[in-house]
Amino acid sequence: MPIKIRTIAVTGEKKTEILDLETPDLVYGEVLVKVHAVALCTLEQRIFRRDVKMPLPCTGGHEVSGEIAALGPGVDAGRWAVGQRVAVRMLYNCGECYYCRTGRTNLCTKALKKPVREGLLPGPGGLCDYVIVKSQDLFDIADGISYEEAALTEPLACCVHSVRKADLQFADTVVVIGGGIMGINHVMLCKKRGCRVILSEVDPARRELASRLGADVTFNPLEKDPVAYVRELTDGRGADCVFNTTAIPSVVPQAIAMVGKTGKMVQYSSMHPDAPVEVSPQMLHSSEVVLTGSVSPTALDFDTANRLINYRIIDMKPVIFGTFEFKDAQAAFEQSIVPGTFRCIITD
Ligand SMILES: [Zn+2]
Ligand SMILES: [Zn+2]
Repeated sequence: MPIKIRTIAVTGEKKTEILDLETPDLVYGEVLVKVHAVALCTLEQRIFRRDVKMPLPCTGGHEVSGEIAALGPGVDAGRWAVGQRVAVRMLYNCGECYYCRTGRTNLCTKALKKPVREGLLPGPGGLCDYVIVKSQDLFDIADGISYEEAALTEPLACCVHSVRKADLQFADTVVVIGGGIMGINHVMLCKKRGCRVILSEVDPARRELASRLGADVTFNPLEKDPVAYVRELTDGRGADCVFNTTAIPSVVPQAIAMVGKTGKMVQYSSMHPDAPVEVSPQMLHSSEVVLTGSVSPTALDFDTANRLINYRIIDMKPVIFGTFEFKDAQAAFEQSIVPGTFRCIITD
């Protein structure tokens, strides 16, 4: 039976409205989830600002948690039950392309071509009071973990993917550039990996938070030459890994210059607009430096992030700015694009 739902839709530049929709019926393997928390990620902010041009109206929201409201046909009633608290993986991957079939679901060639379900709007689709997902995209939430924390499984999973790319070893020196939510997630994860973590960040409050969460060294790149300082801290070698979580073009050559021999530079942030830089092939040859990037989490990364939160290995509370009621979505979006704001979460 289709049910009536509400969605927070972006309907214009910096404009949202709450619209009434009607869901399609649940098909085999699907579950209806009552959404309790959905966080506003960079993608939602870009849709709101119209930097990312999705057809309007559209429904953002891919950082979601809630409780199961109904099981569709074929869902294992021994595993899933109405009322069960779940983190929801909203990321679409087709399951059929080369990258999906080889386990790299984050690189799905159809990731941005999610089919629009009858009655729903284009977009990731989490900013609704109810969502329909496959049971394979549900993840348990441990007792004592809030819906707000569980909604942040996806951004943590993105950083799990990034840190995995770096293949870190005990006592490696890692530089994290940028102390926003993604930079802070990198700091926490790299500490758990037994590394020495250096954070480059201009905002003193963010540096202080990073120190509290385990960063060994923090510095202001406007006060110290970042490349010279990192070299000084590593006996001239350079870092074993540099994660650039900023979208500031001038930072990229610095990030590359901070890496020591056989080290890695991971371009974590997307770049809009793109800003190509020169790279020295002789430097690559003689140093064996690896330049790479990280985009979205795989299904495995999501599962890992879910366990990191449930087992209380990583605490997401420090990166939550605040919560907003569903009806105050416009205010939540406006706050989310204020520089320096950590995650804004919409609750029911
Ligand atoms: Zn996200
Ligand atoms: Zn695919």
